[in-house]
This record gives sequence, structure tokens and C-alpha cells, in this order.
Amino acid sequence: MTIESNRNHLFRRLVARARSDRAGTAGAASANVSPETMFHSLFAHNPIAIGILDRDGRWQRANEAVRTLLGYGEEELRELTIAELLQEGERAERLPDDGAPLGLESRRLELTLRHRIGYRVDVDATLVPYRRGDKWAGYFAILQDMTKRKRTEQHIRHMAYYDDLTGLPNRRLFKEKLSDALQAARTAGTGVAVLFLDIDRFKLVNDGFGYEYGDMLLMHIAERFTHCIGEHDFLAHTEGDEFTFFYANMAADDIAAAAETIIGSLEEPFSIGEHQLHVTSSIGIAYSSPNEPEDADGLMKNADIALSKAKEKGRNNFQLFSSALKSMSIRRLKLESELRRALQEGQFRLYFQPQIDVRSGAIVGAEALVRWLHPERGLISPAAFIPIAEENGFIVDIGEWVLREACALGKSWQLAGFPAIPVSVNLSVRQFLQLKLRDNIARILESTGLDPAYLELEITESMTMDVDYAAGRLQELKQLGLTISVDDFGTGYSSLSYLKKFPIDKLKIDRSFVRDIMTDPGDAAIVAAIIAMAHHLRLDVVAEGVETEDQLRYLHRNGCHLVQGYWYSPPLPADELAKLLAAGTQKSPLLP
Ligand code: C2E
Ligand code: MG
Ligand code: MG
Repeated sequence: MTIESNRNHLFRRLVARARSDRAGTAGAASANVSPETMFHSLFAHNPIAIGILDRDGRWQRANEAVRTLLGYGEEELRELTIAELLQEGERAERLPDDGAPLGLESRRLELTLRHRIGYRVDVDATLVPYRRGDKWAGYFAILQDMTKRKRTEQHIRHMAYYDDLTGLPNRRLFKEKLSDALQAARTAGTGVAVLFLDIDRFKLVNDGFGYEYGDMLLMHIAERFTHCIGEHDFLAHTEGDEFTFFYANMAADDIAAAAETIIGSLEEPFSIGEHQLHVTSSIGIAYSSPNEPEDADGLMKNADIALSKAKEKGRNNFQLFSSALKSMSIRRLKLESELRRALQEGQFRLYFQPQIDVRSGAIVGAEALVRWLHPERGLISPAAFIPIAEENGFIVDIGEWVLREACALGKSWQLAGFPAIPVSVNLSVRQFLQLKLRDNIARILESTGLDPAYLELEITESMTMDVDYAAGRLQELKQLGLTISVDDFGTGYSSLSYLKKFPIDKLKIDRSFVRDIMTDPGDAAIVAAIIAMAHHLRLDVVAEGVETEDQLRYLHRNGCHLVQGYWYSPPLPADELAKLLAAGTQKSPLLP
């Protein structure tokens, strides 16, 4: 049964009931209610808007609910036809008029009317024709207010297709539009490029400044990106710090330029609140060429794989998908899942590389360097897993294990009676941003019994992105009584002014400069300048990656006496380092 026939059925029953009431067959209470009174009550007090209209659709009568719904008084309504109340753009032909008699059937329409004040009112209208004699005389209009439901539907639709934060389309809409664009490209024989973009180290922004700040940054970034697209292109904010673009009608030769435009749009720093922030991005690109068209799913998957590769390659760059990348990403996924187990199963090992004072040949420190003893693949270098652990956050647990292990071993060497030397431990950015880092370190020092003076923390320049924040955190760590060095010095962030602001003790010249000091005058000059600057700032300076005697002599001549590198020793398992410590001083070409 349809709603209309249901309603007619109900109507007939009411009439029959009223008749039988009048005939006195019903109960005593209703015996004296006339059908007119009853219908009047039902009409006047009905929460559903009901009106009686003539053949032209002009209101004859309207109940209170109509007046509330549309904002007109009954007198005003009498001057109006229902067609005149239609919201602009609604087609009047949808209404019955003189020329198109309704017949006997009632009709249901969804109409959008205009409230007296002007806002739209969506109604579900049932129009029931009535006759006078044998002539069609007009109709009853039963209007059910659907505005709220319509709005909710629209809102749900919006939520389903747009991102709340930036107002940009979301992944679902992106995929639908991409499918459309690919279809069109196939017909037109053009190419479509899909770019997946991830803001580098965005988690650090959230961790360091809070989510609200991160959200604000994302909104600013979204705004910049809207300037990177033209009318055939599409931009979406798919999740967290990920944005996606597609460029329809794109020739393969133009892809790099598009990616460069996007990367370039982030060059200018963002000022949010009191901070100035530089962000970079990594982009993965997949292309559907006219000769080898791809589908939306495939393109998106490939762009994602290319994005992972771009991030691995050191960020702030873009990477085009190739099938070689696919097999690599499978390997990486496997590594990631194995990494999670490695800590529980005790697969990490700590190696130590000695630092030597070339003037005396004495070991003056040792850097703890982690290795992964994989059950099948053997010893894995940190370069192969630290970046992955950084990304999935696992580095925090690994880092804590390294700290504890290094402190415990440092203490055990002292207890064994070897000359006391500090152990240095590399901190990851994520660890550095952990609010409880100071307390964790204090706890580890206490439980291992290591004097804080024998712990050195190695930070990198990238941790000092926000100078004031980093200065505060470093101060906190320094108060524990340990020392701090800047690792890989010279490769990062170029502002030197921060050096004065930070409570640091030592610079470690990156091995990329040391490597070429004998062949590249530029590198030689940089190294000499770093050493001179360190002296001025009263900082110790260590050269990393010293492999030859020539390098050693050059460094020594320029005032750098502390070195670390294969020329003396590679990183060694803990017991081998203990043997070196036991043996005392090392050979040095500078000693008689
Ligand atoms: P790094 O802190 O700059 O460590 C020095 C790296 O240079 C070590 O690589 C070391 O083996 C290598 N090296 C030392 N002397 C020479 C040399 O004469 N020639 C050459 N070519 N290389 C030399 P390794 O052990 O592979 O570590 C790589 C990087 O992984 C480290 O660079 C550090 O950034 C990171 N890493 C290692 N262990 C940890 C850790 O426990 N936590 C964190 N967060 N990072 C770690
Ligand atoms: Mg280091
Ligand atoms: Mg280094």
C-alpha cells in the first residue's frame, strides 16, 4: 500500500466513523461531536501544515502550521498562490494548474518554498484534488517540513566528501573525481598525474607545539596549495598531514615542474602565533599515460609507494613511481614488522667507537652505535632501520634501550677499573621532543649508577628548528650534569646564531667534510672554519670519519685534536672496546 492510498484509506475510515457517530452507534462521549467540529479541530491543530487551495493554487484556508512554516498570516496567504511561494529556480510546471487538471489521483512532490523572510523551506507536499459537483475545484495541500532532514542530509553528504579542518575535498571525493578524470582522459587520449604529498616531520610539529598549532599550520598549507592548481586539477586533504593532487591533461614532461611548484610554495616560512616555521614536503607521483592508462586505485597505490620512497630518500624531494619501487616497498613493510619484534626478542646490539686525543693517544670517549642482529640477515646497519623507526615512532623505545645499555656498560667499565671515559648516545628527534626525556634519563642514570658527567648526548641540528624551544629543553637536560654535543655538524640548518643560545659542549664535524679535506679545498676550508669557530665559542671539536693519516695531520695542524674514525678503530662490540680500554693509549703518528 502506498502512503497516498494509506492516507485515503484512513480518510475513508474517519468519514465512516463520523457517519456512524452521527447515527448514534458510537460511544456516548463522541455522540455529540459533529464531524464539522471534529474536522475543524483536526485541521486547525494539526502539527502538519494543511491548506486548501483553489484551482489556481491560491490559498483559501491554511492551518496554524502553514502559517508557522511559511511565516505568512492567513490573510496574506489568500493573496498568494503556492507557485508564487516557490523558491527561485524551482519549476512551476511541477505544480498542477488550470490547464493541467489533476484528475482524481493525489500527487506527491518535493518542493522548495520560500519563507516570508527569504530562507528556503523544503517540504514533502501531498496534493489531494477535490471536486465541487462534478468539477475539479482545487486541492488540499499537506506539507511536511523536510528542511531539517534535508540539511542533515546535506551535512552528512558534506562530511562524507569534505575535510572538516581545511574545507578541502577528502579522499573519497578525490577518488571519485579522479575516476571521472581518468575516464575523460581515456577518451581524449591525455595523461593524468597523481601526486601524494606528505609534510616532512609533521609529527614533530604536533608533538612539539600541540595539535591546535599543527591544525593551524595545515590550514595555512592548504591555502598555499590551492594556488598550485588550475581549473582541470584537483586538490584534496586526505588525512593528517597528507594532501593529494591530480593534474588532468598533463604531459609527462610537465610533471616535474608541477611538483616543483608545490615544493616551492612551501619555501616561504609560515608565521603562526609567535613562531616562524619552515616546512618541507615529500611527494610521490604516479602517472597514467595515454598509452598505458591506469585506474584510480592503482594510481593512488603507486603514488603512495613513491611517496614512501621520497621520504626515505631524505625528504624535501619528489619521486616518480616505477615498478622497482613496488618490490622495495614490500621489503620495507616486512622490515617494519620485524623491527617491532626485535626489541622484545633482544636482537639489538650496542657497538662503541672510541674517540682519541691524537696528542696523547688516549681514548677520551666512546660513541654508542646500535646494530640489529637479525636472525636471518645478520648484522643490519642503523642507516637501514633508524629512519624507519623514526617514522613509526619505534625509535623512542629503541633509544631508551640504547641509553640504558650504554650507561650500564659505561658504569661496568669504571667498576672494572678502566680509565673513566664518557659514553655518547645519539638522540633521535622524537626522543628529544618527548616531555619525559629528562626524567627518563635521570631514572636511567640513577638505576645504572653512572655519574652524569660520563654521559654525553648527541643531538643534530634538525632538533633545533625552533630555537627557543630547543634551548629550554637542552637547558633542562644540562641540569642533570651531562654534556651535549652537536652531531653531523655542518650538514643541517645553516643558522649559526643558535650556537650561542644553546648549552652545548662539543661539535662533531660531519664526516662528509672530513672525507674530502685532502682533495677538496672547499671542504678543507669549511673544516678549518668550523674548528676556528669552535675555539672561539670555547667548544670542544671532534672530527668524525677520520680514515687516513693525512686527514689526521691536517686536522691536528688546524687545531682539532679529538678524532673518531676507522683510522683508529671502527665501532666495536662492547667487550672489544673494554679490551682497548684495558690496553690504555693508542698508537698515534703524532707521538714520538
Ligand atoms: P653518527 O652518529 O654520525 O655515527 C657515526 C657513523 O659514522 C657510524 O655509522 C660510524 O660507524 C660511521 N663511521 C665512523 N667512522 C667512520 C669512518 O672512518 N669512515 C666512515 N665511512 N664511516 C665511519 P653507523 O654506526 O652506521 O651509524 C649511522 C648513524 O645511525 C649514526 O650516525 C647515527 O645518526 C645513527 N645511529 C646509530 N645508533 C643510533 C642510536 O642508538 N640512536 C639513534 N637515534 N641514532 C643512531
Ligand atoms: Mg653520532
Ligand atoms: Mg655523526
